[in-house]
Amino acid sequence: MTTYSHSKLGTFQQCKFKYKLQYIDRIKVELEGIEAFMGKRVHETLEKLYKDLKFQKLNSKKELLAFYSQQWDKEWHDEVIIAKKEYTAANYKEMGRKFVSDYYEHYKPFKQLVTLGLETQDRLELADDIQYHVRIDRFACDKDGNYYICDYKTNNSLKAQEELDEDRQLAMYSLWVRKTYPDAKSVKLVWYFLAFDKEMVSERNEEQLSALKQDTLALIKEIESCKDFPTNVSALCDYCPYKPQCPAWKHEIELEAKSPKEFKDDDGLKLVDEYSLLDETRKRAESKMEEIKEKLVEFSEQKGINMIWGTEKKASVKEYYKVVFPEDKEEIVRLIKQKGIYEDVSSVNYLILGPKILKNQVPSEIIDKVKTEKAHRVSVSKR
Ligand code: SF4
Repeated sequence: MTTYSHSKLGTFQQCKFKYKLQYIDRIKVELEGIEAFMGKRVHETLEKLYKDLKFQKLNSKKELLAFYSQQWDKEWHDEVIIAKKEYTAANYKEMGRKFVSDYYEHYKPFKQLVTLGLETQDRLELADDIQYHVRIDRFACDKDGNYYICDYKTNNSLKAQEELDEDRQLAMYSLWVRKTYPDAKSVKLVWYFLAFDKEMVSERNEEQLSALKQDTLALIKEIESCKDFPTNVSALCDYCPYKPQCPAWKHEIELEAKSPKEFKDDDGLKLVDEYSLLDETRKRAESKMEEIKEKLVEFSEQKGINMIWGTEKKASVKEYYKVVFPEDKEEIVRLIKQKGIYEDVSSVNYLILGPKILKNQVPSEIIDKVKTEKAHRVSVSKR
């Protein structure tokens, strides 16, 4: 039985290489982004709040904040990374403190809902051999038979309602609630955006949940048949604990550790600088050539000539007719097929066929006729 979770699927969609290191090679890392560290402490604190309430113990705000602070100090370790260099650990600690404090003020004395579970560890069976990890921050219900899947968000961006209506995480948990509690009148998905002291709600109907289940199973199928795990560099790399092992960042990390002299002498750095300079020169030359080409045509037309002479070379300017096809080619293609000339004028698009062969998306008889070999593509972009 294989278990999938929201973060496992999300990691695959974000970066396949990270997925491989984390879930296939199971490489353990100590590095942790401070945002995730702070998020964990806030979650622990709110878990304590509701856990104690189950035992009729209402913590004062002061007690709760003291717990938050203790947890922060107890769990702090040297591998916590602060990607945004302009802020300190103290800034983040204070942020989390404010989240807890605002939440406390907003919801005290916390009697709106009855807590059924905290940081749940349930499993939803998606298929015979596939299950889904149901981890709800706070699972609750009211007296009218409505169930609530509550999720605390500690990041600094407020999602749009549209995004939440498409969100996979809580909606998947909603499948589990509906299966486990068939009496549910409704299952509400509730996000607490703590940085904004804002609560947002969404709901899914049966049809949406069934489509979501199919989409999730399709994604799982893609994961299980995946053979290629490339890196995907994005802004999220700054929060990735695998950055030191990542081939997309290893060289940059090596460079950072070098002295200014070693930095300048690095072979890789020199090659990239030279390559990008040539790349820019080529692009500038191509654009200049287009400009000159237009001027040569103009010159030949003005003079009524078709050969223009330079010091060592001459340029021939020839007029020819080219066919301009309409943008929408559907009708033409239909006619070509209807008139029986499709075979004469069409050819196989190898740019489309190649990737399909690599992804095993064509019959094996075709795959057997080709061989694959390694090739390299080099492209330069801004750091
Ligand atoms: S650093 Fe970026 S590219 Fe590398 S594994 Fe992490 S997310 Fe992927």
